[in-house]
Amino acid sequence: MHIAFIGLGNMGGPMALNLHKAGYSVRGFDLSKPACDKLAAEGLVIAPSATEAAQGAAVVISMLPASPHVEALFLGDGRAPGLLAALRAGTLVIDSSTIAAATSRKVAEAAAARQIDFIDAPVSGGTGGAIAGTLTFMVGGEAAALERARPLLEKMGSNIFHAGAVGAGQTAKICNNMLLGILMAGTSEAIALGVANGLDPKVLSEIMRRSSGGNWALEKYNPWPGVMENAPASKGYAGGFGTDLMLKDLGLAQENATAVKAATPLGGLVRGLYAAHSLAGYGAQDFSSIIKLVHKG
Ligand code: NAD
Repeated sequence: MHIAFIGLGNMGGPMALNLHKAGYSVRGFDLSKPACDKLAAEGLVIAPSATEAAQGAAVVISMLPASPHVEALFLGDGRAPGLLAALRAGTLVIDSSTIAAATSRKVAEAAAARQIDFIDAPVSGGTGGAIAGTLTFMVGGEAAALERARPLLEKMGSNIFHAGAVGAGQTAKICNNMLLGILMAGTSEAIALGVANGLDPKVLSEIMRRSSGGNWALEKYNPWPGVMENAPASKGYAGGFGTDLMLKDLGLAQENATAVKAATPLGGLVRGLYAAHSLAGYGAQDFSSIIKLVHKG
């Protein structure tokens, strides 16, 4: 079975490699040449375009930054036709990007009109989870389409949840990421307070990790440089999950909250913090660099 993988960035690259290592025939494509070269060096077959990657594919997986990228890829951008037009009936499309639920539904509708199955399957677990193949998938779509996708998802992740109909995976994802944004900002603030009082950031982090303040940021993604060897904070905040991607997710959460009249005061506040951090020039750095708002490094 041939799989096309579109979007070989921080997440898509290692996800595509895990499928390749599991023995699947994967053809990847990314608009960025450095991203393609990196994956080619690791043994992935790279196609010259998304259409060529998808030629004859039974499954197309996309891992792109945001809604406009996914919409342009599958539905076209006014200049070029979308990829859906090039897929044969019966193809399965798995979009793992974090995008608006409304965009997932729009692409799913266009796919259904061509007898193409579509599921939204955004992920959690960070680049570490993508490399290790331990991602959590939050799936929206028909149960039968999820069952078709499951063997592939199992090669890239260890938790697979069926959240509901198309778009439900995206809704679960923005709830999770709103919480993550709040937890990262709060964790940063707490460590900075301790350090300002002379505490060792490593010792304080370990105390909080094992106490009632324990959370994913303290477990796997400490924002203070040097506390966790493999965290982006210890690599100059390079790679990982970009501040601008977190800002996008917090924006999606606020748009959704407005639409359903939900009260998300902390989500609104933290979106403002990440927006200010992005404006200060940190949009491309990992989102844990939000600690720079409260600590002069
Ligand atoms: P990234 O910026 O590293 O990678 C995205 C890639 O998509 C880039 O290499 C870009 O060149 C490529 N791209 C854009 N448009 C394209 C197109 N039309 N055709 C082919 N390639 C195209 O981003 P990422 O960190 O890999 O994140 C991807 C998605 O996963 C985002 O929606 C993000 O919110 C989500 N996500 C990221 C993380 C994380 O920790 N990085 C975790 C969970 C979810």
